[in-house]
Amino acid sequence: MRSLLLKASRNPWLADQARRRGFVRRAVRRFMPGETLDEALAASHRLAGEGIPVVLTQLGENVDSAAAVSRVVDHYRSVVDRSLEEGLDVQVSVKPTHLGLDLGEEICRGALSRLAHHALSAGVPVWIDMEDSSYVDATLDLYRSLLDPGAPLGICLQAYLHRTPADLEAVLGAGGTVRLVKGAYREPEDVALQGSGAVDAAFLHLAGELSLDLTGPGAGRPLRHVLGSHDIDLLSQIADGPEIQMLYGIRTRAWPKILEVGTPFRVLISYGEQWYPWYVRRLAERPANLLFVARSVLP
Ligand SMILES: Cc1cc2nc3c(=O)[nH]c(=O)nc-3n(C[C@H](O)[C@H](O)[C@H](O)COP(=O)(O)OP(=O)(O)OC[C@H]3O[C@@H](n4cnc5c(N)ncnc54)[C@H](O)[C@@H]3O)c2cc1C
Repeated sequence: MRSLLLKASRNPWLADQARRRGFVRRAVRRFMPGETLDEALAASHRLAGEGIPVVLTQLGENVDSAAAVSRVVDHYRSVVDRSLEEGLDVQVSVKPTHLGLDLGEEICRGALSRLAHHALSAGVPVWIDMEDSSYVDATLDLYRSLLDPGAPLGICLQAYLHRTPADLEAVLGAGGTVRLVKGAYREPEDVALQGSGAVDAAFLHLAGELSLDLTGPGAGRPLRHVLGSHDIDLLSQIADGPEIQMLYGIRTRAWPKILEVGTPFRVLISYGEQWYPWYVRRLAERPANLLFVARSVLP
């Protein structure tokens, strides 16, 4: 089922059909406060009231024109400006293909650098998401070229990739900051671990490296390493240090407990019109979520 859903996440016909169906749009609301920045900011205020800061990300990937890339950069500038005007504690997270990586590394580097310059000079940390394995080399190159160990700029690494232990060592060696996740894409056996047991073991090992870094060479870094996961059992086995980040709408009952024990915690809010591939990846993580889609058929 996971593999079928991940294949479906890349199907343009299904994307078009899903966007037209009211019941799918209703089901998506479980993971997303809405399609607009206003709705994302309203959700950020609600979470701030519960003591939870946020990461904001506009949904979108595989952008195919320079004009569209400029619109994305402008959008993130307004995310930074509006968040600061409204007194919110935010970070932003961006996908390289939303910033034109498919159009070439130079275009993406220019866009990411304009966006990062605006955010970082306003004191807003920036995260770079990691997409499927065909983009990992280019994404790491982009990160390396923009990395200034004094600036809060982080990159996501995926525990399921065979290459990640070496990438983690290189990023930490360069003074970078990491958000570790299990990995959300469909990858072949020669590229990624396949079973959940193997992925969990890899996550645990790599998370241990992040904890060690935080008590050693990375102690004074401007941005804390992050574990992006909802796997409470796994997270409870990891020594204090990294911040925990979860996605909006997932494992909400665990959030107050995480805050109670004092672990740094943030919720990533995704919003925007281009929700289809992202939403189907969320379904693939937990196929039981399909039940929510089925229930949403009822108005
Ligand atoms: C802050 C953050 C940033 C991320 N950034 C990236 C990225 O840049 N690149 C990338 O490849 N992946 C990214 N991911 C997704 C990640 O790779 C996993 O696919 C996702 O987090 C599910 O894995 P898990 O660690 O929660 O563990 P799982 O073993 O998948 O889940 C553990 C438990 O959490 C709950 N849960 C997990 N997912 C769902 C869901 N969709 N719906 C309902 N319950 C669920 C279930 O109870 C499940 O049993 C990110 C995740 C987070 C939290």
